[in-house]
Amino acid sequence: RKPPPPPVAMSLNRLKETLLPCSSSSAQSQSQPRSPSPPRPPRRPPKTSLSQQLLRLEASYSLPAPPPSPPKPLSQKTAEDAAEQPTSSSEEDVAPRPRRRPAPPPAASFEPRGPYEPLVLSPLGEHPIVQVPPSINCRLLAHQRDGVRFLYNLYRNNHGGVLGDDMGLGKTIQTIAFLSSVIGKDNNQGEKSTDKGKKSSPVLILCPTSVIRNWENEFSEWANFSVAVYHGPNRDLVLEKIEGQGLEVLITSFDTFRTRDKVLCDISWELVVVDEAHRLKNEKSKLYTACLGITTQKRFCLTGTIMQNKIMELFNVFDWVVPGCLGDREHFREYYDEPLKHGQRLSAPERFVQVADKRKKHLVSVLKKFLLRRTKEETIGHLMLGKEDNIVFCRMSDVQKRVYRRMLQQPDIQILVNKDLPCSCGSPLTQVECCKKIEPRGIIWSYLHRENLDGCPLCPFCLVLPCLVKLQQISNHLELIKPNPRDEIEKQKKDAELAAAVFDTDIELVGGSAKSENFMGLSDSEHCGKMRALERLLSLWTLQGDKILLFSYSVRMLDILEKFLIRKGYCFSRLDGSTPMNARQSLVDEFNKSPSKQVNLC
Ligand SMILES: [Zn+2]
Ligand SMILES: [Zn+2]
Repeated sequence: RKPPPPPVAMSLNRLKETLLPCSSSSAQSQSQPRSPSPPRPPRRPPKTSLSQQLLRLEASYSLPAPPPSPPKPLSQKTAEDAAEQPTSSSEEDVAPRPRRRPAPPPAASFEPRGPYEPLVLSPLGEHPIVQVPPSINCRLLAHQRDGVRFLYNLYRNNHGGVLGDDMGLGKTIQTIAFLSSVIGKDNNQGEKSTDKGKKSSPVLILCPTSVIRNWENEFSEWANFSVAVYHGPNRDLVLEKIEGQGLEVLITSFDTFRTRDKVLCDISWELVVVDEAHRLKNEKSKLYTACLGITTQKRFCLTGTIMQNKIMELFNVFDWVVPGCLGDREHFREYYDEPLKHGQRLSAPERFVQVADKRKKHLVSVLKKFLLRRTKEETIGHLMLGKEDNIVFCRMSDVQKRVYRRMLQQPDIQILVNKDLPCSCGSPLTQVECCKKIEPRGIIWSYLHRENLDGCPLCPFCLVLPCLVKLQQISNHLELIKPNPRDEIEKQKKDAELAAAVFDTDIELVGGSAKSENFMGLSDSEHCGKMRALERLLSLWTLQGDKILLFSYSVRMLDILEKFLIRKGYCFSRLDGSTPMNARQSLVDEFNKSPSKQVNLC
């Protein structure tokens, strides 16, 4: 007789998964019937067909002419237009000719826009009508509109809830759209209240210090609230504004709130929004107890990680959001926490697993009323389909190949290549097991072990990474293996010795074995396979009006690419480790906005 199958263990992850599919049912349950959401736009074609571009590159090196392209259906027209077929292998013909880029089809417009139908939140027939301002509504995606409905319906029932969407789904803009529909409105048909009419109390936003600016920026971009930040030395001046000038939104950090909770809890808030609300997972923390002092019933939480480790964390967050919604703490522990933990064990008896499963479903159904949680895949996955990753293999130049081969012949690499050959001393062991663990003739080995001439415990494998780095540098640009004047003198000596060895008879071609300052030499793509490929791709992309981000992890490579861009006449900017923090955002903004900026080096 066979033993019964082992019970299925239930994990915390499965509970987390189960929290997902609650979609927007609670958001829709109380709202008026709405028109079905529009069909998702079809998958967009890639902006340019890199496979065609690759063919073109390949053609310039070896192929006499590409095969004639077969007739293509109309839908591929954009990609086809973008990648003209070369007609011969000569350089002039291979380089793309200037031509106008075809207008993109409407579906390919870059910024996703929601439908323009008004987003009315209040139930049909109810007055005043509450709706999201068109200026925000037109920029909302479908899932964001659902999120705004969800937040409003909670608000209308005089309590709060948790927006638990994945990071990147726009929790901030959903919140601002929701606030824009309900804050500062009097009974004048949703018009923003002026000095007449009853003003509502202000909104409190609690968030980590690091995102205060972000909230401020988003508010100024999307809404015309009177917003103030309560943070830093002069913070108490801000409080006077609440009374005197009709402040509508106050943003403060967790740290400030923890110490100033008495002052802030004295204020009558219309509603409170806690960003990164998983910070409320511990009921014994000072932040949690301080938040309990906030008097409003309308408590909203935003978080992408609603539960990090323990089920009790869920209780703490929800018990703050809607006090009592999950019963009292002891009941929750007995009814959900303990059974779920028991059922989760691998050795749990079947009946424990069944109870856990039932309780889990029950918990999820209770949470649904107050929690909206969506993933990237189910919401904006279809928008990401136009993105393609392409890897372009670049043929090394002839000099690069010669240098690469000489590098492979270096004793440092040979000892690794030959490690499994029989040892020359006649023993039955391999070289690496016997006599050839160290290589005093190797330039890299000698440098690595200049303090311990007998080798290190890792020998010869301590050579793997340094040798790979050298091979990678040769493949990227020959200039990179020359000594760097910023290095210590010992390392420079070693690099100069190695460079001389691998350049050998090609030393003149690469401008000597010392670091070159020669602009014409460095900016020339002739001896660098990657730059030759880049030259053609840049030319093609810029002709199409695309902007290009050009990344390198090496500052020296960025220096070389910069010279290359100057020589080619591209308009570019550069952002690297030396760019001051406070200059970075404006540099990015300028690159995005200025039509003349073609390339950004980073
Ligand atoms: Zn041996
Ligand atoms: Zn070693």
